[in-house]
Amino acid sequence: MDHRHLLPNEIDLLVDGTAGVGLAPFRAHLDECNDCRARYDELRIVSEAVEAVPHFVPKLRFADSVMAGVQVAEPWHVGVTESAKRLVPTSRPVRMLGLAGASIVAVAVSGTAAWLALRGDLAGWVLDLVVDRGREGIVAGASAVASGALGADGAATLANGGAPTIAILAAVLTVTAIGALLAFRRLAATAAAKRS
Ligand SMILES: [Zn+2]
Repeated sequence: MDHRHLLPNEIDLLVDGTAGVGLAPFRAHLDECNDCRARYDELRIVSEAVEAVPHFVPKLRFADSVMAGVQVAEPWHVGVTESAKRLVPTSRPVRMLGLAGASIVAVAVSGTAAWLALRGDLAGWVLDLVVDRGREGIVAGASAVASGALGADGAATLANGGAPTIAILAAVLTVTAIGALLAFRRLAATAAAKRS
């Protein structure tokens, strides 16, 4: 005969009625030991009472509502990743559209940068051309203004070089043209500084 009392897990196995080998010696001990028999009876009463309790099912999203009140410490990169994921559109067409737009912008920016790096001299030449065209346009515009203000005779007199008033007007137009030229030079210098 085994004189050792039953262990708690062995009484659990008996209460649960777990089918399997090894239970027969435990049952034999219960028949002979009043102490273990009493513990077994108590545990069986509790077990049956628990089984009689109605089985409740937590309401929907119960776990979510609990976790909403729990402060979970997460690494910074997890937060950054989650924020980035939230920015990604959920619908497939919008996502494809966003991907295409981002790709176009990336290609355009990198392509422009590469072009400027490789063809900086060409970019400078185009800028000078634009400045020259702008200056010529302003001078032509000033001449047209003079012709309109003075009439055909005045313009002819301006071309021939004559009265002092016309000379003053011509000087004013020249100063205006030089001012415009200086402004364009400054613009070109600023653009060149940004480019380099
Ligand atoms: Zn016992």
